[in-house]
Amino acid sequence: MSKFPLSVPVMHGKEARYLQECVESGWVSSAGPWVDRFEKEFAKAIGMPSAVSVTSGTAALHLALMIAGVRPGDEVLVPTVTFIATVNAVRYAGAEPVFFDCDDFLNIDSEKIRLFLAGECESSGGATFNRKSGKRIAAVLPVHVFGHPARIEEIVTLAEPFNVAVIEDATESLGSLVLGPNGESRSTGTYGHSACFSFNGNKIITTGGGGMIVSRDLAVMKRAKYLSTQAKDDELFFVHDEVGYNYRLTSLQAALGIGQLEALTKIVERKRAIHSRYVKNFSNFREASLIAEPPRTRSNHWMNTLRIAEGARLDLRALIGRLGQRGIQTRPIWKLNHEQKPYLANQGYRIEKATALYPRLLSIPSTSSLTDSEVDQISSELMKTITELLK
Ligand SMILES: *Cc1c(COP(=O)(O)O)cnc(C)c1O
Repeated sequence: MSKFPLSVPVMHGKEARYLQECVESGWVSSAGPWVDRFEKEFAKAIGMPSAVSVTSGTAALHLALMIAGVRPGDEVLVPTVTFIATVNAVRYAGAEPVFFDCDDFLNIDSEKIRLFLAGECESSGGATFNRKSGKRIAAVLPVHVFGHPARIEEIVTLAEPFNVAVIEDATESLGSLVLGPNGESRSTGTYGHSACFSFNGNKIITTGGGGMIVSRDLAVMKRAKYLSTQAKDDELFFVHDEVGYNYRLTSLQAALGIGQLEALTKIVERKRAIHSRYVKNFSNFREASLIAEPPRTRSNHWMNTLRIAEGARLDLRALIGRLGQRGIQTRPIWKLNHEQKPYLANQGYRIEKATALYPRLLSIPSTSSLTDSEVDQISSELMKTITELLK
């Protein structure tokens, strides 16, 4: 393993105690108080009435799409810049993704969604259809990429008249806020029909693996619980009126999550300080800069991304290799999803910026336990190596 990995779990003190209490209580599977407590505390942390935990962020996305009414034969608007799990969940629901470009913050381009819905679709019978494919546009699935809030208010407003459900992939953005004009703020994941979070090992908090669905609509929450626990209609007599899933989080995972959640504010503060320090260190470096948080937002800065200057001819593979030898893990961002094999036949709508940016983006170490002097050390190595390779 690298001396400085991209983003790995950090424990904050209470996790082992809660795990031990959980083991000693005997409630280690899905029954018992731990899962309920984690769900309640999570909902409170982001200002939502309730939350339903599941085995992963991917499972959360799968259920959220089904619950929003995405059916086989539908289409869902997705960003091409995201981890492939976002897109795969659309296929699990039997629907097809339509890919969209990104903006300067790597989030889905809301203006292009507007242009697409207004110019390429037609509405009839309260639904919106893609003129090209004839398929119904059931949902749009914006991702708060690397923790930076997408233009979510705008997307919710523009999707509404078309009856297109908005589901937020907030898997990377726990602790990120959208700021209002009067100093008020609201968490990402509180805007859509529903939103999904992930507690995978590399995320802002971890349960080892896990996820969460939130919605203001209690019927959505009830349905998420029902579908994630094998759709039990009569528990005693094993009656199941629908096909359900075994997507439950365990108490062990929840106990770990409760400990992590208590440190959320501290983690986000540290992540933001790491970002500021990178920005400062790179401020006089012409060959690369950091992707910033969008205006009127407060990003959790889950993952820092370096943007190599336009025109700088740099072999990303060579750069990553040499940094690796120096103990610094870096990675290109995800291969654009409209170019991934399972999705080559799917429609992409005016994807330009993502293609241009992709070869110039590099994720850099962002673990919340990094000290200031470690960030400085990584920054100098990054600048030195980039300079070497540009010669
Ligand atoms: C991590 C992640 C997921 C999936 O979460 P898992 O818990 O790993 O299943 C989905 N979308 C994005 C953008 C992610 O980063």
